[in-house]
Amino acid sequence: MEPDYDAIIVGAGFGGIGAAIALRKQGLNNLAILERESNLGGTWHVNHYPGLSVDIASVTYSYSFAPNPHWSRMYAPGEELEKYAHHVVATYDLERHMQFDTTVTGAVHDDESGLWRVSIEGREPITARYLVAATGFLSQPYTPPFPGIETFTGDILHTADWDNSFDPTDRSIAVIGTGATAVQLIPKLAERARSLTVFQRTPIWVIPKVDTPIPAPVRRLFERVPATQRALRSVNNTILEGVMVVGVLQYGRQRILNRAVAAASKLFMRTQVRDRKTRKQLTPDYDFGCKRPTFSNQYFKVYNRSNTALETSGIDHFRSNALVAADGTAYPIDTVVLATGFNLWDTNFPAFEIIGREGRDLGKWWRDNRFQAYQGITVPKFPNFLSLNSPYSYNGLSYFTTIEGQMRHIERLFGEMRRRGVTGFEVTEEANQRFLDRMTENLSTSVFYAGDCSGSNSYYFNQHGEAVLLRPTSTRAGLKDARTFPLSDYTYAQ
Ligand SMILES: Cc1cc2nc3c(=O)[nH]c(=O)nc-3n(C[C@H](O)[C@H](O)[C@H](O)COP(=O)(O)OP(=O)(O)OC[C@H]3O[C@@H](n4cnc5c(N)ncnc54)[C@H](O)[C@@H]3O)c2cc1C
Repeated sequence: MEPDYDAIIVGAGFGGIGAAIALRKQGLNNLAILERESNLGGTWHVNHYPGLSVDIASVTYSYSFAPNPHWSRMYAPGEELEKYAHHVVATYDLERHMQFDTTVTGAVHDDESGLWRVSIEGREPITARYLVAATGFLSQPYTPPFPGIETFTGDILHTADWDNSFDPTDRSIAVIGTGATAVQLIPKLAERARSLTVFQRTPIWVIPKVDTPIPAPVRRLFERVPATQRALRSVNNTILEGVMVVGVLQYGRQRILNRAVAAASKLFMRTQVRDRKTRKQLTPDYDFGCKRPTFSNQYFKVYNRSNTALETSGIDHFRSNALVAADGTAYPIDTVVLATGFNLWDTNFPAFEIIGREGRDLGKWWRDNRFQAYQGITVPKFPNFLSLNSPYSYNGLSYFTTIEGQMRHIERLFGEMRRRGVTGFEVTEEANQRFLDRMTENLSTSVFYAGDCSGSNSYYFNQHGEAVLLRPTSTRAGLKDARTFPLSDYTYAQ
């Protein structure tokens, strides 16, 4: 039986784009990239709130094989990332494979034909030999069920569904949440709002951002001598590796590094926030790295403004024109901004129903057992399936090291299939278990288990309390694994 496509990729963000480049390189030209949004870019198409930018410097947050000498700043604004996604797609001629406004609702492996049958909302199912889930980690917006929110008569905006016509001037705004997105947005709103109340559940570790415009001569240098931009990337990668990877994932051995970064963040806050009580409220009571830290030079200063207040007692309920805090204070407001993030663990693992060989349901299997994926990309009983947003897949602190490692994995796996003259692969149970055991052991010395993460409310932890999102190895070791994993960890079939 001939499939409709060689491969179906679900998601047209940087993950789906990277997978498409890797598969095309392997000679697979009949691809369908299915995307529920009306355009490509994933995160960077969906999010467009004021202040959106990367929090990993742009020299690092980009494909190493497609450097962009035109970033306007060290940390590029969101719209430049969307433009960059279009540029890469045009360079690799991928848009012709993309089908927008196309929501995948399920996928079943047909054990007889060996093909994947993919269901699509409002359309006939389609088939492919290979299935790639590239649906993202932070792609299913979340709104907690706040009591009485349905009675609120003002405007409600979610940061992942921003209304570009919204004008904060003279508004009385409540922002709920103080994660990385809120840290970018709050200073923008504070500049113009009549009043701004920030409802904080969990404080965030904030590090100063070395962010400046990149002058035109430097951009020209990057364009003419790409090695200069590569050198800057190496320097930035090394710093990030020390702060975010070694200090967090190798916490047991490098506690001092973790403590030093936390102390630097506290010192920074001292220089920024005048009020001692506010400083105390803004100081995390969990170890650095338990929750994704962020970078900002504007965030802390906001709390010196007369129009801005910090509320930490929690949310009790909404009234038609007010938000009532847990301590009984009622804040009259006309606008609520939900910076409440994304639902990872309930809706994203996986983002649609995936049934493998012998009827194994991926979501159920992960929940009934432990969340696991060999090298963060393949799962036993799911032949010819690549799951990019898997347990232990996030390698390093820029998503691009993750996807580039996965592209290398695809290259090695498909190269071996070509050499053997076969088209089917499946990871063995034994290899999967071995990898899971290694990750579990490595994690025991990470900040997640060796540190104190009890008050962090971090999306790194799943519903079983396991921190299985980040790969607990150095970035370099993760990339090396992708190039050298034993080929015998897979079985191969026609
Ligand atoms: C505001 C924000 C800022 C960020 N900043 C950084 C940063 O500075 N550094 C960093 O490393 N990471 C950052 N991230 C994480 C970011 O998500 C990743 O870096 C990267 O863009 C993820 O790419 P992706 O392709 O895996 O996922 P996404 O970009 O989320 O793309 C997944 C795509 O899959 C589609 N999709 C999902 N389900 C379905 C379905 N059932 N059918 C069809 N299509 C579907 C979605 O619509 C989406 O377009 C940020 C995330 C957010 C939300």
